[in-house]
Amino acid sequence: MRHTSLERIPGIVAGLRHSFAQGVTRPESWRRAQLERMRTLLLDRGDDFEAALAHDLGKSGAEAQLTEIGFLVAELDYALAHLSGWMRPRRVSVPLAVLPASARIVPEPLGVALVIAPWNYPLMLALSPVIGAIAAGNAVVVKPSELAPATADLIAKLVPDVLDRRAIAVVTGGVPETTALLAERFDHIFYTGNGRVGRIVARAAAEHLTPVTLELGGKSPVYVDDTVPIAETARRIAWGKFMNAGQTCVAPDYVLGSRAVLRKLGPALVDAIHELYGTASAGNSDYGRIVTDAQFERLVGYLGDGEALSGGEYDASQRWIAPTVLQDVSRDASVMQEEIFGPILPLIEVADLDDAIALVTEREKPLAAYVFSSARAVRMRWETETSSGALAFGVPALHLVAHELPFGGVGESGMGAYHGERSFLTFSHEKAVLSKPLLPETLAVTIMPPFTKNKADL
Ligand code: NAD
Repeated sequence: MRHTSLERIPGIVAGLRHSFAQGVTRPESWRRAQLERMRTLLLDRGDDFEAALAHDLGKSGAEAQLTEIGFLVAELDYALAHLSGWMRPRRVSVPLAVLPASARIVPEPLGVALVIAPWNYPLMLALSPVIGAIAAGNAVVVKPSELAPATADLIAKLVPDVLDRRAIAVVTGGVPETTALLAERFDHIFYTGNGRVGRIVARAAAEHLTPVTLELGGKSPVYVDDTVPIAETARRIAWGKFMNAGQTCVAPDYVLGSRAVLRKLGPALVDAIHELYGTASAGNSDYGRIVTDAQFERLVGYLGDGEALSGGEYDASQRWIAPTVLQDVSRDASVMQEEIFGPILPLIEVADLDDAIALVTEREKPLAAYVFSSARAVRMRWETETSSGALAFGVPALHLVAHELPFGGVGESGMGAYHGERSFLTFSHEKAVLSKPLLPETLAVTIMPPFTKNKADL
């Protein structure tokens, strides 16, 4: 992978700032043109992006289309359809005592934004925030993950050819390049990745009082009770878990259920894995690979934490780990301490609903929680008694594609949100504009000294 030279980084950011100051990025026509060009790029070069994603993560073409390229195209279509409305100032009312006056909220671009992306959906998570930054009228620099080098190289090669390089830049590299970027002043930093680096980003941003969005991870729980159809539940959990070989920020991390539920769910999950990936998933091109040797070693270390109902096999030469369901896992096991971020699904027995909710609330707030129950009272208890970035009933991960739902974490799973209009607002300042005619009237007199008794009574 090519790395941007460290010496060039201050100049790149200065160039973007100059373009922003010149007003290059403000016109709606410019924003539209960039979004349309990005759309064309994704459609025209879809094969190249698919090949890069296959190289980096063994991602299948269909999954690349569904979760990366197609996702971005849908996000672009939505932004293009709504951009004019989002940009329009919004009239709001003022208190009677302030009349005559009018008030508006005027969205304005923040300036120069920095987007730092991770490796797991290396195309989608690099460009999706950029869509918001452009829609809101910002200049933007994006730093793709060095752990998905083919995708990073392709973004660095194609984006400057297609989008306006005066205001949109790509910097490639790893820690030194990101550190150099973070030394610069930005008007917003949008980081997706882990909490350790999230803290580094927040500290660097504090130096310049730069607002940050941190899209982090966590252990997203699944709760299943005995009121749902088990086979369909298992199929949906397996789909959300083993997509991208479990390397999805909103993947189900572990499953909670009573002994009786887990006794049925375990075999149903095994059936679901066979249905989705066949029995010989080592040769199954629909199933991905682990991104690095270090991640592979970490994941293999978890395999001894329970009894493998299915999977448990691995092949270091291909960084392949079979979709694995672990039963009889203790709550203190290492697999239950950190986000798994791989194709291993522990089943954790709970005494009852109270026990399940307590287990989740005692831990850090996750990015998502998934509940499979047809009992409304049970669903309401999860809604009111637990906190997570998102809560979904009956299906994992799908909340991500609902444009009108804000996507983001809470607590350890992050701060801020994006997607749809929320992306536009994340990269905008909502400026309060009040306008009052200069007519002689009582209010202007009553709020000014001298404060006589008569005025106070008015
Ligand atoms: P990663 O290692 O690719 O890191 C992300 C970015 O941080 C990269 O661009 C990298 O260059 C940069 N970086 C790494 N170390 C740095 C340092 N010391 N200083 C400055 N920058 C540095 O990706 P990752 O963190 O392994 O990604 C996986 C994590 O991301 C998981 O926890 C996952 O849950 C989370 N995630 C969250 C979302 C979300 O939308 N909330 C999406 C995907 C992944």
